[in-house]
Amino acid sequence: RSEDRDITDQLYGGNLDTRIRQEILLGIGGCRMLEALGIHPTVYHMNEGHSAFLALELIRNYMEKLSLGYAEAKELASASMVFTTHTPVTAGHDYFPPDLMDRYFSEFIPKLGIDRKRFLALGRRNADDPAESFCMTALALRMASFSNGVSRLHGQISRQMWHDLWPGVPEDEIPITHITNGVHFQSWISQEMEQLYERYLGPSWREQPAEQSVWRRVESIAAEELWHTHERRRERLVAFTRRRLRAQLQRRGASQAEIESIEDALDPDALTIGFARRFATYKRATLLIRDKARLASILNDAKRPVQIIFAGKAHPLDDAGKALIQQIITLARDPQLRRRMVFIEDYDASIARYLLQGVDVWLNTPLRPNEASGTSGMKALANGAINLSILDGWWDEAYRDCRTDERQVGWAIGQGESYADRDYQDHIEAEALYDILERDIIPIFFDRRADGLPRRWISLMMSSIANLCPQFN
Ligand SMILES: *Cc1c(COP(=O)(O)O)cnc(C)c1O
Repeated sequence: RSEDRDITDQLYGGNLDTRIRQEILLGIGGCRMLEALGIHPTVYHMNEGHSAFLALELIRNYMEKLSLGYAEAKELASASMVFTTHTPVTAGHDYFPPDLMDRYFSEFIPKLGIDRKRFLALGRRNADDPAESFCMTALALRMASFSNGVSRLHGQISRQMWHDLWPGVPEDEIPITHITNGVHFQSWISQEMEQLYERYLGPSWREQPAEQSVWRRVESIAAEELWHTHERRRERLVAFTRRRLRAQLQRRGASQAEIESIEDALDPDALTIGFARRFATYKRATLLIRDKARLASILNDAKRPVQIIFAGKAHPLDDAGKALIQQIITLARDPQLRRRMVFIEDYDASIARYLLQGVDVWLNTPLRPNEASGTSGMKALANGAINLSILDGWWDEAYRDCRTDERQVGWAIGQGESYADRDYQDHIEAEALYDILERDIIPIFFDRRADGLPRRWISLMMSSIANLCPQFN
């Protein structure tokens, strides 16, 4: 029926009723589809809570097929389910009110041989609260025999977040562990870097990417070769960005003079910072532009030019996220900044590649601990960009303090502090960000020898690749 097909025609933007139907289709329908195809998985991986109704269908199926009682079927189902939670942001988890659960599960519940209260308790923190909504993450955590977050810090935060599902269990024994995300380098690195790796590291960088000794060989790449490879990618990024900006202006019906002015936007030799991601508010895209005067003085230094390329999209319903984009676009039109600060619209994986492959510094400014892992920094890393980030998600375990560790890998903004006052926190961290740029990043980048090579920067690139690539793949 066409109304059934409509269930999946939009990913976002539906109401809760659409949402629950989508998740029933995914979890229960998905399970039945595999059954119909004759596929019998040993392990079902619930990637985020959206598919967790799967657990109910598995139990029902075991009860029917093997003539088991609810408790035995549940144990059997548990053994074949693992769960990964992906977000420490409350709004990122699905909650369905009891009346909505009733609408779709009143016929299903009796098949499990349990009563409504016991059924709804599977998704509640407090079984005795009749008003509490049914939480898909709670269901998944209760059902899976193994659960994990996606970075060390996120594992810890998840244990805190969900500890009341295991009353009386000490927080560090809550059965949620972590498996830190990684990226598939070949999908994200430039052809130029790929050729360089192939030549100096051999095929093992692809075949055994977790091998430390393989990545050590990065230090044997000739400095000028690594640098010129990287510079070529920066030039391509600048050319690509100008093309995109020109198309954006044309679409908006800008004057010819305006369109021509794009030619003096950006500088292929400037220290280039990239910031590209979903514009969720916790990612704080505007932290870098908090102090306009200080930003302008950093970007406009004629001897040591710095530029920043922003790209990103907000969720269709996230007005606050859209407002951040507006602020950036407005500032990027300012005559004082427009040559050094640009915004690329319609962010997607292809734009992401140009940016990740061409920037010198990859910036990430989430409000800790809201970034579960983050993966774009890992993609940038493999391309030779240096990460500059809040100690959140993967960076909290990747970063090494150069005062205590000789293996330099990039920079941390702050030390993982949290302040009660959000505005104060933004202020402190924006100041820290400007300080690092002025004191560390810019001087190292522009410290050139007679041959024009930034030797300290190049060794930082090598050290960052050699130390982190083996881990985050
Ligand atoms: C890698 C990637 C992301 C995820 O990036 P974060 O590090 O989580 O911000 C989002 N969008 C695109 C297009 C990507 O390539």
